[in-house]
Order: sequence, then structure tokens, then C-alpha cells
Amino acid sequence: MNTRGVNTQATDTADVIVIGGGTGGYSTALRAAALGLDVVLVERDRIGGTCLHRGCIPSKAMLHAAELVDGIAEARERWGVKATLDSVDWAALVATRDDIVARNHKGVEAHLAHAGVRVVRGSARLTGARTVRVEGAGSTPEARADSTLGAHAGSTPGAQSPSVPGVYDFTARRGIVLATGSRPRVLPGLEPDGRRVVTSDDALFAPGLPASVLVLGGGAIGVEYASFHRSMGAEVTLVEAADRIVPLEDGDVSRHLTRGLKKRGIDVQAGARLLDAEVLENGVRARVRTVRGETRTVEAERLLVAVGRVPVTEGLDLAAAGLTTDERGFVVPADWNRLRTAAPGIHVVGDLLPPPALGLAHASFAEGLLVAETLAGLRPAPVDYAAVPRVTYSSPQTASVGLSETEARARGREVEVNTMPLTAVAKGMVHGGGGMVKVVAEAGGGQVLGVHLVGPNVSEMIAESQLIVGWDAEPSDVARHVHAHPTLSEAVGEVFLTLAGRGLHQQ
Ligand code: FAD
Repeated sequence: MNTRGVNTQATDTADVIVIGGGTGGYSTALRAAALGLDVVLVERDRIGGTCLHRGCIPSKAMLHAAELVDGIAEARERWGVKATLDSVDWAALVATRDDIVARNHKGVEAHLAHAGVRVVRGSARLTGARTVRVEGAGSTPEARADSTLGAHAGSTPGAQSPSVPGVYDFTARRGIVLATGSRPRVLPGLEPDGRRVVTSDDALFAPGLPASVLVLGGGAIGVEYASFHRSMGAEVTLVEAADRIVPLEDGDVSRHLTRGLKKRGIDVQAGARLLDAEVLENGVRARVRTVRGETRTVEAERLLVAVGRVPVTEGLDLAAAGLTTDERGFVVPADWNRLRTAAPGIHVVGDLLPPPALGLAHASFAEGLLVAETLAGLRPAPVDYAAVPRVTYSSPQTASVGLSETEARARGREVEVNTMPLTAVAKGMVHGGGGMVKVVAEAGGGQVLGVHLVGPNVSEMIAESQLIVGWDAEPSDVARHVHAHPTLSEAVGEVFLTLAGRGLHQQ
């Protein structure tokens, strides 16, 4: 230690060193610690990562507020409730959102401390296949405050999270886990300025709500932000280069979602390209080539760029362990069953993984469990990405699991498909707003290959379908079970009844 109290060099060991404290990293750390391993978790920003601070949680909090706003219009227009919307107090909305984030953040920090994970604050890089250097190191304030819990029973005697800033070298007895996540993709010539040209990160911390938005990118993030801003009263244009929005979903999902968004007044332009964008004092002026080949000028207060995310590996020095990324920046596992890289002992989880991994927080939880259990010497089942649900929390929502009809046919499966509008069941009529259930199964009563939902609350309805797909069930297995009446999920039950040859309300 030097005279200013800065640790210039110190060394320590742990069973497992996790780099990155997002959902992938902290789930790995929690499970590994629960299995008795001594774990160091390095995070340079805030535990919780993208999902907790800039992704899933703040965006879903905002979308909940958007649902309340939409509910006022529905109450007035459909139900004779004489309510009007006064205004949305953005600062108050942000305060509630940030309180939810802060409470979750505190909760995760407490879980880690309780589990005995040594949380080290700083930027980590590999120095070998078993060694990591952390600069700017120091334990988190939370871990220091609870130092009795910070020391793990199995750790080096007296070992605690380092509390002095400096450089720390760690050696991993069992393995290193890369969990450094992703950040928004930026398009050349369209660099975000945080005011007029923004990413999903900037949109959270904007000073107010815009009156008009041009959203570039029709994936889940772009669609959710388009939906949110429309609920908040903005004029919204959504531009997607692929020939349909949510292009990774079943074609019927894209169709129903497009219809629902258009009905709400969102100008959905699929198969369209942004030609250029000029930043003005009060907004942006963009030229868009539509699918019909026309050039349209769109003026908006804000241009929200949501064209995907790129893995974060800068400064990680993968080469020190003999690793590289692929051309898209992903760390490709040599063994997908164990999520182990080409360097023995180094594993990878979360948004660093290329497809078929999904870039979703709940998938990263499953990856964290898998890697932790592997490092503890267990033999967990590989992550079955085909059975992981995918949700877009817009209005209407989409939720799906398994193969789309096109994917199933492309794999040479002979399929049978049944589709039902949600308004065919009473609860769907109560909700209004359309939506559908589509099930893709192997012909002749075979395995269920995919379930695709659009409509209100379908994010909460997909859970049974993930079990159906994950457990390789057949329609007749599902048709034996009774769905509550009246519910939206009755429509799911009805589609399975039909596929099992026992349709009640449809043939
Ligand atoms: P991250 O959460 O990005 O965490 C990586 C961490 O590593 C960061 O905290 C970073 O500071 C740290 N780090 C990086 N490099 C270093 C280093 N060298 N040293 C130390 N620390 C380092 N997913 C869902 O499942 N549901 C949703 O509803 C959903 N909504 C989303 C909405 C938005 C707007 C966005 C942007 C994403 C959303 N996602 C959602 C995706 C989800 O957030 C990610 O899949 C998930 O956060 C990935 O977790 P991760 O652990 O791989 O990475």
C-alpha cells in the first residue's frame, strides 16, 4: 500500500471469478456461492447491469404507467367512465420507476452479501486463462457495510472484499466467467447526442416526454418504446428495415402486432430504410424510403435508435487467455452444453453469447445456473433455448415459445396449425383490442412445436406454453386439462382442444 492509502498491487484467490454483475453474472455468483464455492464478482458500474438499470425493469415500469394511461381512454370510450387524463408528470413517473429499480438493486446486493459473494468494484481484464486483474478495485459500499457477511466460509482465511482502491490480481481455482453483457448498437453517421438522437439508455434519462418520436428498429426494444411514447400522447413513426416488425417472431405475430399498433395511431413502416437524418435545434428531420419506394420526410422531436445491441468485450483482453470474438463481437462457446469457451476453465453467459442464445435476462439466469453448477462439479442439463419464452411488452403484447410455423416447415416437419382470435372467448371481448393464439404442432397429433400469442396480458399467459413446449407435450396431453372460465387463457385451451380433435367453440 502506498502513502495515499491506495493499494498498488495485491493478490488473492477464489474458486470462481465472475466478470460483470448483470443478470448473467450475479446469477452465476449466487448459485456458485450456494453450492459452497468461494466467489469473487467484479462489477465496474452497478450490480444488476443492463436489465435492472437500463433495460427490463425501468422499461416495464414505464410500460405499466402507459397501460394506466391507455386504461383511462378505454374507460371513457368503452365503459362510460367519465374520466379524462389531466397530464403525465414525467418527474413523478421517473421517481416511481427509479424507486422500483433502487429497491431491486438493494435486494440483489443484499442477496449477494448474504450468500457470501465477494463483490469487487472495478474494471476487470484477463491476464491468463486462470487470472484476472481488477483496476480501481474496492468493495461496494453495501458489501463493506455488511463485512461480516462479505467473507465467505470457504474463502481464504480472513479474505474479504478488498476495500482499498488499487490493482488486485485474482487467481481462479475452478474457473472464470465472462458476463460483461452488451450496449446499444450505434449506426455510423447517427451517433447519439442524448438529446435529439437517443438510444434506449438515453430515453430513460431524458428531461421530459417528446411530442413526436421516430423509432428506428422494430425489434422488441423499438416496439416497446414506440408503444410507450404513443400511450404518452406522442406522434410515433416506427421504421423497420425487415419486411415486418418483430421479424424473428411468427409471421402472424408480426401481422397482429402491426395491426394493433396501427390501430393505436402508430405509423408502422416495415420494409423501410432511413436514408438520412438531420439534427435540428428542436428535433430531427429524417428521410425514409418506404416499402413502396417513396421517399417520405419525417420530422420528430426525438430519433430513438433501437437497432440491436453489441457485446461488450473492450478492455477485457480476451487474447491474454487465447480467446477471440467472432466477427459480430460475440464470445462463441466451444461447448454449448457447458457454455465453456475454447480456454478451459473460462465460461461465458448472457449477452456475450451469440444466437441461438437469446439476449434475454431470463435466459441469462438459466445460463448462470448452468455455469455455476458445472463449476461446482455437477452435470446440469444444457439450456434449451427453444423452450425459453420471448415477450414484447408493448400494447398489444406478444409472447411466444418454440418454433414459428415457417421455422417448423423449414426444418422439414409436417405441421398442423390452429389459430384463434382472443375475441372468440368472452374475456377477450371484455378486454377488446384483438389478439390471437396460434399453436404449431406436428401433424397427426404429434409434439407441440410452438405457441404464439398476441394481446393483452399475454406475457403472463405464456408460462403454461413454455411447459407444454419444454415437456414435449402433445395437444391431447393439454386438452385433458381444464382452463378457468372466463379467462384469456381459455383461448389457449380451446386451440389445444381443437388440435386434439375435441374442439368446443371451433371446429
Ligand atoms: P449486462 O446486464 O449488460 O451486465 C454486464 C455488466 O458487466 C455491466 O453491469 C457492466 O458494467 C459490467 N462490465 C462490463 N465490462 C466489465 C469489466 N471489464 N469489468 C467489470 N465489469 C464489467 N430482457 C428480458 O429478459 N426481458 C425484458 O423485458 C428485457 N427488456 C429490455 C429492455 C431494454 C431497453 C434493454 C436494453 C434490454 C432488455 N432486455 C430484456 C435484455 C436484458 O437486459 C439483457 O439480456 C441482460 O441484461 C443481459 O445480462 P448480462 O448479464 O449478459 O449483461
